[in-house]
Amino acid sequence: MSPTEEQKKRNADLAVLLVEDNLHNRRIFSGILKHFGFRVSEAEDGEQALEMVQVDPPDLILMDLSLPVMDGWEATRRIKALDACKDIPVLALTAHAMSGDRERALDAGCDGYLSKPISPKAVATEVERVLHGGDGSEAPG
Ligand code: MN
Repeated sequence: MSPTEEQKKRNADLAVLLVEDNLHNRRIFSGILKHFGFRVSEAEDGEQALEMVQVDPPDLILMDLSLPVMDGWEATRRIKALDACKDIPVLALTAHAMSGDRERALDAGCDGYLSKPISPKAVATEVERVLHGGDGSEAPG
């Protein structure tokens, strides 16, 4: 199912920061988000993400939790501690199946949680749901 032109139009003003150290996943998730019309920037670790949000705050952050340099939990805590960034929704992405990771993600300030493996379409749909409400497939207005 391809996004409609209206979907793409309403997503075009929205910036998503994708924080993911796995190149394959980064390409897949970045590709589907762009396909849905979002503007996408990419960070490879938590420290890079922390710097990028302060230069150009995105509308939403997709945050892998297992990251080099600074992990996603710590990066989320630090981002949420910034006045200018504390209201940016953070969706955690993790391959960890243990429920404790979900709790830790929410404790760190993540607003939602997606378990990998996940279909690229499901990622885009969840981003739309968080940014627009609904399931992303409804006609706008
Ligand atoms: Mn990772």
